Amino acid sequence: MANSYWVEPDVKFVKQLMGLGGETLKKCYQCATCSVVCPISPDEKPFPRKEMIAAQWGLKDKLVGNMDVWLCHHCNDCSTYCPRGARPGDVLNAVRAYSIQEYAWPKWLGKIVPDGRFWWLLLAIPVAIFLFVLGVTGHLHIPEGEIEFAHFFPTLLVDLIFVPLAMVWIPLTFGIGIYRFMTDIHKNALAEGKTKRKDLNIPDFLKSIACALPTILSHNKFSQCSENKGRYLSHILVFFSFLGLFVVTNIFFVALYILQIPGPYSMVNPVKILANVSGIALLVGAILMISNRLKDTDANVSKGSYFDWSLIILVLGLAVTGLLSQYIRLANVAVIAYPMYFAHLVLVFCLFTYLPFSKLAHMVYRTLAMAYSRYSEREPCE
Ligand code: SF4
Ligand code: SF4
Repeated sequence: MANSYWVEPDVKFVKQLMGLGGETLKKCYQCATCSVVCPISPDEKPFPRKEMIAAQWGLKDKLVGNMDVWLCHHCNDCSTYCPRGARPGDVLNAVRAYSIQEYAWPKWLGKIVPDGRFWWLLLAIPVAIFLFVLGVTGHLHIPEGEIEFAHFFPTLLVDLIFVPLAMVWIPLTFGIGIYRFMTDIHKNALAEGKTKRKDLNIPDFLKSIACALPTILSHNKFSQCSENKGRYLSHILVFFSFLGLFVVTNIFFVALYILQIPGPYSMVNPVKILANVSGIALLVGAILMISNRLKDTDANVSKGSYFDWSLIILVLGLAVTGLLSQYIRLANVAVIAYPMYFAHLVLVFCLFTYLPFSKLAHMVYRTLAMAYSRYSEREPCE
């Protein structure tokens, strides 16, 4: 006898998905074209048709914690071929946005970061903190003489703000989110018969991360799509530029505090070159993301929700303010260079503080889902 399932529709959940960019979900009539055309979906229990009916019925427990939602790369092949304009790619994107809120800790930040009404508050928090810190330390003015950012915002103050964010805030908030996510993913996979492994064995799971790494680093899932190939280049540029800037930040931290070599560093210093290449790659990646979204004239493909755009604008802002801070400093225009550096630090603060609650969190959650898919043997290890 088939297993019975008690359906408990969550109408509020349906409305929330519609508010996060999944407003077309009710158009689906379950023809399954999307599951057939999706180049990423496995043959066994394919997606996204089953997720579409779960979204229509408000079956939150079938969507939040569903690894398939994270295996989707939002390439929109399915949306292009959907005969009803139900935009399954956008619906899965909305489920991911909802899930990021669901796993967030503290919850209130998970609610306000994706809410377009509060963008000014998210910016005002670092502006107020920085103005206060600069004010009480006597640095709230444009310094005289040759431009050196450390004369305006001393490096020690910058590090006293950003090191705790990087070493305590992100690991703590993201750690809680990741714990909740992994617990749910495993529970859901067991309930849906997607894994036979009863426990989540950490050493084996780490091996699965190693298995998924070549696919993640090469971004080759994007190149399997036929409709939206431009996303491959923009995503790989942004991904590797963040990686490059992460390496640069750590090297400069070691240079300053361990090797005692204070900046500013020469423009031909290899680490500085890596910083500039990464900054330019970030800028190009952000511009490509914007142009890909704007130039897509397919009525079945949306231009993105506030959740998507807030990340793209942040990435663009980081690249523009970072590069301009440097070039305006070299041009020795103090009255613009220092405020530009201030704006750059505000955006870096936003990136660090809101990372676990923003769309950028998908980089971590998708990596874990791709690893879990190999752990559960839903996908083979390459
Ligand atoms: S989302 Fe579109 S393609 Fe997929 S099952 Fe529904 S109607 Fe068919
Ligand atoms: S958006 Fe792309 S990856 Fe996601 S379900 Fe549709 S076709 Fe598959």
